[in-house]
Amino acid sequence: MAERITGHTELIGLMAYPIRHSSSPAMHNEAFAYLGLDYAYLAFEVDNDTLEDAVKGLRALKMVGSNVSMPNKTVVHKYLDELSPAAELCGAVNTIVNDNGKLIGHITDGIGYMKALKDNDIDVIGKKMTIVGAGGAATAIEVQAALDGVAEMSIFNVRDKFWANAEETVKKINERTNCKVTLYDLADLDKLKEEIADSYLFANATGMGMKPLEGQTYIPDKSFFRPDLIVTDVVYAPRETAMLKMAKEVGCKTMNGLGMMLFQGAAAFEMWTGKEMPIEHMKEVLD
Ligand code: NAD
Repeated sequence: MAERITGHTELIGLMAYPIRHSSSPAMHNEAFAYLGLDYAYLAFEVDNDTLEDAVKGLRALKMVGSNVSMPNKTVVHKYLDELSPAAELCGAVNTIVNDNGKLIGHITDGIGYMKALKDNDIDVIGKKMTIVGAGGAATAIEVQAALDGVAEMSIFNVRDKFWANAEETVKKINERTNCKVTLYDLADLDKLKEEIADSYLFANATGMGMKPLEGQTYIPDKSFFRPDLIVTDVVYAPRETAMLKMAKEVGCKTMNGLGMMLFQGAAAFEMWTGKEMPIEHMKEVLD
């Protein structure tokens, strides 16, 4: 590392708290080293109280940009100059790009999910999908899927504190894109079965299946799936959730959350460096 850092090295940050557990620094620095790019990516413990100063610092230091994670994703837009259409619709930012002094906020989680589908030869454009979730990951996927041209989307969620966000997302997508979206209560399992039955793809975008809900799923039994249904999960630890296991047993093509994680990073990487992340190399390193 000491040999790699010079007076020309450009800095990219990650502003979140807590953040020391993140795998993003290892991922981006590995990609920089692999491609011989003169950047360094460092994690900074920044919470809502220090966020404004941190963004001012980013400007003053002419940093290339930064990732932003919790608790700053829904707050940082206040300190930026412009938002991408997806970031605006989501009300969240996970990537800042410093475009010659103009700070632009993007959200790459949804881009990452859509790219991961493509990487798995799954084409949901012009088709119908059913998705469960109304939190950060779900909203990003729903917005990007609608912007990219998914024709119809049925969103399910439990009636918890995220319900109002789901209503808001549905309203925005219906008003601002050509995708037709409907919201349903996840307690209505008959409706869930019906909506999955005429969908090309079913997605879990909640933490169901990972700790503390590991081994669990809200899908009651295998009759909810059919062999030609695509089933995806945002969860990547474990690599195979109870839902994905069930889907595989039915014969469905499945995708876990690892690709989304990799490609959301790759999208930010490309925005900062103008270079493609070495995906195949990163897959080997991450697995
Ligand atoms: P969040 O807290 O913003 O949202 C949580 C969601 O889970 C809400 O929709 C909530 O209603 C739902 N939920 C909670 N308990 C539930 C239950 N018992 N039954 C059904 N639904 C329930 O969380 P988030 O940031 O959106 O993360 C959700 C999951 O996505 C996590 O597992 C996270 O690890 C994963 N994630 C993956 C990636 C990736 O790149 N693969 C990126 C972000 C998040």
